[in-house]
Amino acid sequence: MPGYISTRGAAPRLSFADTALAGLARDGGLYVPEACPQISAEEFRNMASQNYLEIAWRVIAPFVGDDITAQQLIVLLQKSYKNFAHPEKTPLRKLEDGFYVQELFHGPTLAFKDVALQFLGQIFDFILSARGQKVTIVGATSGDTGSAAIDAFKNSPHANIVILHPKGRVSDVQRRQMTTVDAPNVRNIAIEGSFDDCQDLVKAMFGDLAFRDSMQLSAINSINWARILAQVVYYVYAGVRVQAETGRPATFCVPTGNFGNVYAGYVAKSMGLPVEKLIVATNANDILHRLYTTGRMEKRGVVPTISPSMDIQISSNFERLLFDLYGRDGAKVAATMKHFRETGPFDLDETLMAQLGGIFASGRKDDAETTQIIRDIYRLHDYVVDPHTAVGIGVAQDWKRAHPEAAMVTLATAHPAKFPDAVKAATDVAPELPAPLAGLMTRAERYDVLPADLPRVQDYIRAAFGGAA
Ligand SMILES: *Cc1c(COP(=O)(O)O)cnc(C)c1O
Repeated sequence: MPGYISTRGAAPRLSFADTALAGLARDGGLYVPEACPQISAEEFRNMASQNYLEIAWRVIAPFVGDDITAQQLIVLLQKSYKNFAHPEKTPLRKLEDGFYVQELFHGPTLAFKDVALQFLGQIFDFILSARGQKVTIVGATSGDTGSAAIDAFKNSPHANIVILHPKGRVSDVQRRQMTTVDAPNVRNIAIEGSFDDCQDLVKAMFGDLAFRDSMQLSAINSINWARILAQVVYYVYAGVRVQAETGRPATFCVPTGNFGNVYAGYVAKSMGLPVEKLIVATNANDILHRLYTTGRMEKRGVVPTISPSMDIQISSNFERLLFDLYGRDGAKVAATMKHFRETGPFDLDETLMAQLGGIFASGRKDDAETTQIIRDIYRLHDYVVDPHTAVGIGVAQDWKRAHPEAAMVTLATAHPAKFPDAVKAATDVAPELPAPLAGLMTRAERYDVLPADLPRVQDYIRAAFGGAA
């Protein structure tokens, strides 16, 4: 039975099911598998002809163990990806020889977060129904996570869901994707404040143990291990195909915020998938690019960009990589994170930087460059990309110029119609919403506005779901 341990070394070892429900570990750390299951080179080669669900089952099953039987897992995967608009789920598109884009935005809310959250929704329902439990999911969103989570949990008999977003600071499309969902177990709160205020409120609710226990709070943010696991699958899907076609292991370029997506690539590589490099692409919020180039992790204020889902000051999932870099020494990770929170920057020494450089590289694109990339890709390839994807493509192009032999795969993390203003500014063309979302801009919205005040938000949640949990 695979077990999960905390990156800070002081929380109980958990099963897959308990890890999925727990989210954050009790010592403040993140859960990682005790040992990474391996797949042989030969088996990876044979996967080039398998479809998405076959690969998903083979990759995920060894991480899950007895909590879910093989047959049950197949059913959960089928349900997770049945609402994806493309038969291949995460198709590859070749722009030039040795230069691919992998479209991760064919899920119901048009961002790659659907790949993880649709799976998480199924996992939660399965575990909670087996245990006869019910939870209240509380989350904060700067845009894409909220809609993906609401879609995944709407009408669930085992979970109520409350999403906090900063009032007036998410796009109209993003807000409407959350507030037009008409389901009795969904509540949206527009907080009079910033995304950080929303996140602080969520943290405070989890810190209030009486409230947390009475409401059976549960978290679905990007540090949830089951989300990472679902994302490992598309690296394998693309990696085995690209290698079969080009004869080279893929180099993945990943538009990065919280480091969840690119960490999933690291897990795929750790399982044995041939991967040449993982390239971290950031916008002007470049804490990770600075880390990879200088060895120093140092936070700065967040600047708003046209790729808002990457406007992040601290990339929480990096702690999982740090745990491996530190030889899985939880006490050392805990001390470093405490120092980072309370005092400030920390440095990786030359040995660790060499280790990091063997696996990762990084690049950065500001808004002006991003707009130019969207324009160029449209002109050259008649292909419209969203600003997050464009950051990735720009960094991938730089890498390809320096390494012409590389087999590049850039992950396309959002559908261009999710960010129509930025796309229209670059191409003069406003991208259209796909058919299932066509009525989005005229449907009735339902949400409540509250101040960034903990007791008010808690009263609201108690009143909405207090009797049901
Ligand atoms: C969330 C998000 C990202 C960042 O992904 P991380 O896993 O946080 O690194 C990039 N692009 C889009 C469109 C997103 O929604």
